[in-house]
Amino acid sequence: MRLVLLGAPGAGKGTQAVRLAKQLGLVHLSSGDILRAERAEGTELGKTAERYMDAGELVPDDVIVAMMAEHMAKAEAAGGYVLDGFPRTRAQAEALEQRLCGQSSGLEAVLELKASDELVAGRLSGRRVCPACGRVYHLRNSPPREAGRCDQDGRELVQRPDDRLEVIGQRLKTYHEQTEPISAYYREQGLLKEVDGDGEIDCVSARLDEVCRHLTGVR
Ligand code: AMP
Repeated sequence: MRLVLLGAPGAGKGTQAVRLAKQLGLVHLSSGDILRAERAEGTELGKTAERYMDAGELVPDDVIVAMMAEHMAKAEAAGGYVLDGFPRTRAQAEALEQRLCGQSSGLEAVLELKASDELVAGRLSGRRVCPACGRVYHLRNSPPREAGRCDQDGRELVQRPDDRLEVIGQRLKTYHEQTEPISAYYREQGLLKEVDGDGEIDCVSARLDEVCRHLTGVR
Protein backbone atom coordinates (compact mmCIF):
# COMPACT_ATOMS: atom_id res chain seq x y z
CA MET A 1 0.00 0.00 0.00
CA ARG A 2 1.13 3.52 -0.80
CA LEU A 3 -0.22 6.63 0.90
CA VAL A 4 0.67 10.32 0.63
CA LEU A 5 0.19 12.77 3.48
CA LEU A 6 -0.19 16.36 2.30
CA GLY A 7 -0.43 19.56 4.31
CA ALA A 8 1.31 22.79 5.23
CA PRO A 9 4.49 22.72 7.28
CA GLY A 10 3.29 22.39 10.88
CA ALA A 11 -0.01 20.75 9.91
CA GLY A 12 1.09 17.60 11.76
CA LYS A 13 2.21 15.45 8.82
CA GLY A 14 5.30 14.10 10.55
CA THR A 15 3.56 13.13 13.79
CA GLN A 16 0.60 11.57 12.03
CA ALA A 17 2.68 9.81 9.36
CA VAL A 18 4.69 8.00 12.04
CA ARG A 19 1.47 6.79 13.68
CA LEU A 20 -0.17 5.76 10.42
CA ALA A 21 2.88 3.88 9.21
CA LYS A 22 3.12 1.97 12.48
CA GLN A 23 -0.54 1.11 12.49
CA LEU A 24 -0.63 -0.05 8.86
CA GLY A 25 2.77 -1.75 8.84
CA LEU A 26 4.21 0.67 6.27
CA VAL A 27 7.54 2.50 6.01
CA HIS A 28 7.43 6.20 6.93
CA LEU A 29 9.33 8.19 4.29
CA SER A 30 9.82 11.84 5.24
CA SER A 31 11.73 13.83 2.62
CA GLY A 32 12.58 16.46 5.25
CA ASP A 33 14.00 13.84 7.66
CA ILE A 34 16.02 12.22 4.85
CA LEU A 35 17.48 15.62 3.90
CA ARG A 36 18.32 16.46 7.52
CA ALA A 37 20.09 13.09 7.86
CA GLU A 38 22.08 13.81 4.67
CA ARG A 39 23.06 17.19 6.10
CA ALA A 40 24.10 15.67 9.42
CA GLU A 41 26.33 13.22 7.53
CA GLY A 42 27.78 16.04 5.44
CA THR A 43 27.02 14.36 2.09
CA GLU A 44 27.01 16.22 -1.25
CA LEU A 45 23.21 15.98 -1.30
CA GLY A 46 23.05 17.42 2.20
CA LYS A 47 25.31 20.31 1.21
CA THR A 48 23.21 21.04 -1.89
CA ALA A 49 20.00 21.06 0.17
CA GLU A 50 21.29 23.21 3.01
CA ARG A 51 20.78 26.69 1.64
CA TYR A 52 17.30 25.97 0.28
CA MET A 53 16.16 24.44 3.55
CA ASP A 54 17.47 27.24 5.75
CA ALA A 55 15.82 29.83 3.50
CA GLY A 56 12.43 28.03 3.62
CA GLU A 57 12.63 27.25 -0.11
CA LEU A 58 12.26 23.98 -1.97
CA VAL A 59 15.22 21.83 -2.95
CA PRO A 60 15.22 21.37 -6.77
CA ASP A 61 12.82 18.74 -8.10
CA ASP A 62 15.43 16.57 -9.86
CA VAL A 63 17.47 16.24 -6.66
CA ILE A 64 14.41 15.31 -4.58
CA VAL A 65 12.94 12.90 -7.12
CA ALA A 66 16.20 10.96 -7.42
CA MET A 67 16.58 10.85 -3.64
CA MET A 68 13.02 9.65 -3.03
CA ALA A 69 13.14 7.07 -5.85
CA GLU A 70 15.97 5.34 -4.03
CA HIS A 71 14.14 5.27 -0.70
CA MET A 72 10.82 4.24 -2.26
CA ALA A 73 12.45 1.30 -4.00
CA LYS A 74 13.62 -0.06 -0.63
CA ALA A 75 10.25 0.61 1.01
CA GLU A 76 8.40 -1.22 -1.80
CA ALA A 77 10.16 -4.38 -0.80
CA ALA A 78 9.01 -3.85 2.78
CA GLY A 79 5.32 -3.65 1.83
CA GLY A 80 4.72 -0.02 1.00
CA TYR A 81 5.04 3.45 2.45
CA VAL A 82 3.52 6.64 3.80
CA LEU A 83 5.06 9.61 2.00
CA ASP A 84 5.46 12.70 4.20
CA GLY A 85 6.64 15.95 2.58
CA PHE A 86 6.82 14.44 -0.92
CA PRO A 87 5.53 15.30 -3.48
CA ARG A 88 5.66 19.04 -2.90
CA THR A 89 5.35 20.34 -6.47
CA ARG A 90 3.34 19.40 -9.52
CA ALA A 91 6.52 18.15 -11.22
CA GLN A 92 7.24 15.86 -8.25
CA ALA A 93 3.65 14.55 -8.28
CA GLU A 94 3.97 13.74 -11.98
CA ALA A 95 7.34 12.07 -11.46
CA LEU A 96 5.79 9.94 -8.71
CA GLU A 97 2.91 8.97 -10.96
CA GLN A 98 5.26 8.01 -13.76
CA ARG A 99 7.27 5.87 -11.42
CA LEU A 100 4.16 4.10 -10.17
CA CYS A 101 2.87 3.46 -13.69
CA GLY A 102 4.93 0.34 -14.02
CA GLN A 103 3.73 -1.04 -10.66
CA SER A 104 0.77 -3.34 -10.16
CA SER A 105 -1.09 -0.71 -8.12
CA GLY A 106 -0.64 3.03 -7.64
CA LEU A 107 -1.39 5.31 -4.73
CA GLU A 108 -4.15 4.12 -2.43
CA ALA A 109 -5.04 7.62 -1.24
CA VAL A 110 -3.71 11.14 -0.64
CA LEU A 111 -4.64 12.41 2.80
CA GLU A 112 -4.54 16.18 3.24
CA LEU A 113 -4.30 17.65 6.73
CA LYS A 114 -6.05 21.00 6.70
CA ALA A 115 -4.85 23.72 9.09
CA SER A 116 -4.90 27.53 9.00
CA ASP A 117 -1.72 29.61 8.59
CA GLU A 118 -2.24 30.98 12.08
CA LEU A 119 -2.39 27.50 13.61
CA VAL A 120 0.67 26.15 11.79
CA ALA A 121 2.76 29.27 12.46
CA GLY A 122 2.06 28.83 16.20
CA ARG A 123 2.98 25.14 16.04
CA LEU A 124 6.21 25.74 14.10
CA SER A 125 7.50 28.64 16.22
CA GLY A 126 6.97 26.67 19.45
CA ARG A 127 8.43 23.40 18.13
CA ARG A 128 11.62 22.10 19.74
CA VAL A 129 13.42 18.86 18.88
CA CYS A 130 15.94 16.60 20.52
CA PRO A 131 19.09 16.53 18.36
CA ALA A 132 19.91 13.01 19.60
CA CYS A 133 16.67 11.01 19.38
CA GLY A 134 14.57 13.32 17.18
CA ARG A 135 11.67 13.50 19.65
CA VAL A 136 9.50 16.54 18.99
CA TYR A 137 8.08 18.86 21.68
CA HIS A 138 6.09 22.08 21.72
CA LEU A 139 6.79 24.82 24.26
CA ARG A 140 3.11 25.17 25.13
CA ASN A 141 1.23 22.14 23.76
CA SER A 142 3.60 19.32 24.71
CA PRO A 143 6.49 20.67 26.80
CA PRO A 144 9.22 18.39 28.17
CA ARG A 145 9.13 17.57 31.91
CA GLU A 146 12.27 19.66 32.51
CA ALA A 147 12.32 22.92 30.54
CA GLY A 148 14.63 22.71 27.51
CA ARG A 149 15.66 19.05 28.03
CA CYS A 150 14.56 15.86 26.31
CA ASP A 151 12.50 13.52 28.55
CA GLN A 152 14.11 10.50 26.93
CA ASP A 153 17.84 11.28 27.03
CA GLY A 154 18.22 14.64 28.84
CA ARG A 155 19.80 16.33 25.79
CA GLU A 156 19.30 20.06 25.33
CA LEU A 157 16.43 20.68 22.90
CA VAL A 158 17.04 22.79 19.80
CA GLN A 159 14.94 24.80 17.38
CA ARG A 160 15.16 23.79 13.71
CA PRO A 161 16.76 26.71 11.82
CA ASP A 162 13.73 26.81 9.51
CA ASP A 163 11.33 27.03 12.47
CA ARG A 164 12.61 30.54 13.26
CA LEU A 165 9.90 33.16 12.84
CA GLU A 166 11.71 34.90 9.98
CA VAL A 167 11.74 31.69 7.90
CA ILE A 168 8.19 30.49 8.71
CA GLY A 169 6.59 33.18 6.51
CA GLN A 170 8.68 32.07 3.52
CA ARG A 171 7.85 28.39 4.11
CA LEU A 172 4.13 29.17 4.13
CA LYS A 173 4.47 31.28 0.98
CA THR A 174 6.33 28.42 -0.74
CA TYR A 175 3.62 26.01 0.42
CA HIS A 176 0.75 28.13 -0.92
CA GLU A 177 2.46 28.79 -4.25
CA GLN A 178 3.97 25.41 -5.04
CA THR A 179 2.46 22.66 -2.91
CA GLU A 180 -1.17 23.60 -2.33
CA PRO A 181 -2.03 23.35 -6.06
CA ILE A 182 -1.24 19.61 -6.07
CA SER A 183 -4.35 18.98 -3.94
CA ALA A 184 -6.43 19.83 -7.02
CA TYR A 185 -4.30 17.44 -9.11
CA TYR A 186 -5.11 14.56 -6.73
CA ARG A 187 -8.74 15.64 -6.30
CA GLU A 188 -9.21 15.30 -10.07
CA GLN A 189 -7.88 11.74 -9.81
CA GLY A 190 -10.36 10.94 -7.04
CA LEU A 191 -7.54 10.24 -4.59
CA LEU A 192 -7.77 13.22 -2.24
CA LYS A 193 -9.26 12.86 1.26
CA GLU A 194 -9.35 16.02 3.36
CA VAL A 195 -8.93 15.73 7.11
CA ASP A 196 -9.23 18.51 9.71
CA GLY A 197 -5.75 18.95 11.22
CA ASP A 198 -6.86 21.23 14.06
CA GLY A 199 -7.01 19.74 17.55
CA GLU A 200 -5.15 17.33 19.82
CA ILE A 201 -2.82 14.76 18.22
CA ASP A 202 -5.08 11.82 19.26
CA CYS A 203 -8.11 13.56 17.91
CA VAL A 204 -6.52 14.14 14.47
CA SER A 205 -5.26 10.52 14.49
CA ALA A 206 -8.80 9.30 15.09
CA ARG A 207 -10.03 11.30 12.09
CA LEU A 208 -7.29 9.80 9.90
CA ASP A 209 -8.06 6.28 11.15
CA GLU A 210 -11.67 6.76 10.22
CA VAL A 211 -10.72 7.77 6.66
CA CYS A 212 -8.27 4.88 6.36
CA ARG A 213 -10.90 2.38 7.50
CA HIS A 214 -12.81 3.14 4.34
CA LEU A 215 -9.89 2.57 2.00
CA THR A 216 -9.78 -0.70 0.18
CA GLY A 217 -7.07 -3.00 1.30
CA VAL A 218 -6.52 -1.41 4.73
CA ARG A 219 -6.23 -3.95 7.49
P1 AMP B 1 9.98 19.39 6.16
O1 AMP B 1 10.70 18.74 7.27
O2 AMP B 1 9.08 18.46 5.41
O3 AMP B 1 9.25 20.64 6.61
O4 AMP B 1 11.09 19.85 5.09
C1 AMP B 1 12.11 20.75 5.47
C2 AMP B 1 12.69 21.38 4.23
O5 AMP B 1 13.28 20.38 3.39
C3 AMP B 1 11.71 22.10 3.31
O6 AMP B 1 11.42 23.43 3.73
C4 AMP B 1 12.46 22.08 1.98
O7 AMP B 1 13.52 23.03 1.95
C5 AMP B 1 13.11 20.69 2.01
N1 AMP B 1 12.21 19.68 1.42
C6 AMP B 1 11.59 18.64 2.06
N2 AMP B 1 10.85 17.93 1.20
C7 AMP B 1 10.99 18.51 0.00
C8 AMP B 1 10.44 18.25 -1.29
N3 AMP B 1 9.59 17.23 -1.51
N4 AMP B 1 10.80 19.08 -2.32
C9 AMP B 1 11.65 20.10 -2.13
N5 AMP B 1 12.18 20.42 -0.93
C10 AMP B 1 11.86 19.63 0.13
